[in-house]
Amino acid sequence: MRLEAAVRTDPGLVRANNEDACAAAPPLYAVADGLGGHQAGEIASNLALETLRRRAERGPHSDDESAHESLRRAIQQANSAILDRATSDARLRGMGTTLTVGLHEGERLHLAHVGDSRGYLLREGELKRLTEDHTLVAELVRRGELTREEAAVHPQRSVITRAVGISRTVEVDTFTIELRAGDRLLLCTDGLTSVVDDDEIAQALSVSTGTDAAAEALVGRANALGGPDNITVVVIDAEEGEPSPWMEATIEPAETQPAPSASDHSWAEAMHRLGPRRPTTHRPRWNWLLPPVLAILVIVGVLVFRAAVNSRVYVGLDGQTVAIFHGVSGSVGPFKLHHMGERTGVTADQVPEWYLQRLRSGVVVGSMAEARETVARLPSLASPETSDSVGPSPSSSTSAPGGHG
Ligand code: MN
Repeated sequence: MRLEAAVRTDPGLVRANNEDACAAAPPLYAVADGLGGHQAGEIASNLALETLRRRAERGPHSDDESAHESLRRAIQQANSAILDRATSDARLRGMGTTLTVGLHEGERLHLAHVGDSRGYLLREGELKRLTEDHTLVAELVRRGELTREEAAVHPQRSVITRAVGISRTVEVDTFTIELRAGDRLLLCTDGLTSVVDDDEIAQALSVSTGTDAAAEALVGRANALGGPDNITVVVIDAEEGEPSPWMEATIEPAETQPAPSASDHSWAEAMHRLGPRRPTTHRPRWNWLLPPVLAILVIVGVLVFRAAVNSRVYVGLDGQTVAIFHGVSGSVGPFKLHHMGERTGVTADQVPEWYLQRLRSGVVVGSMAEARETVARLPSLASPETSDSVGPSPSSSTSAPGGHG
């Protein structure tokens, strides 16, 4: 089987840099979508393809499994290369890349895949998605917790769960397809699939006669829909014939543009360039958790405070009536820190003036029982020998109005 391929990579209409990279270097075909801070994504995606070019064993492999093993090994080497580079340069920390690779061998195409770039096969007019997205939402769809339609508009749809270069080991999906003459394959980054749906991809691949025209049509469609991300496609046609000779180095680097000077940019853009290149895509980000967590902390704080306040009991005045309250006397702004526990039958004019002052600020007690006890022994009501327990002085007790005891 002979493969005929065309590649296109385009920065899109929003981003200043292109962090995607792609290759059509028979027998290797690949797309990579870099992630990371300023320019780090570009370095990661290109480093991945460069490592593949140098390290991937072209075969012949004895069977599919050994081809998969060879691809996994090459991707693991790319993983280490990116990680080592990121470790040695603080500005590159956290960089990584998606990687979707096809290795052509005779009638077969061995594929290896990490991240949310995709492989598709158009066969006899039917488009089939070959890869699974390693994203949070795709995981939820596989578990039946989200529909594909919901996933397509989900706010966290770009959060990926696997990438090359992020941790010491990388899990790689591998599989093989048996090629048939007339097959058209597509490897692409999410800059295409985030805006162009599968039906439109099928349409563009079906109507375009050559691989060049198909690649052009796909990129054009993504840009027509706003081109919010870098767009990269590799379109491959399988035809009867001898395979193309191996290429040594036709890795296509990401289209790089000179970094514009700060004065050419607005403050917002300058800040954006200082921060991660893609704040809303690819990096698993947990910032969205902050508001709900803060809200929960505030609610818990309020509940604990209320419980603490309510566990206290005091005897005070509700208008002209002596009452038992839960909480503490007084208020914070418009918020009272207490609520009525129970009213007593005692009115203010039955209590000596010196004790009324204490009631106005609240006589704190340990429990409801103690509060009732205190009320029962209010100075004017109590017998002289127990009145000491609530602290009247003999001289002041003379001001008590007539009690009802
Ligand atoms: Mn992307």
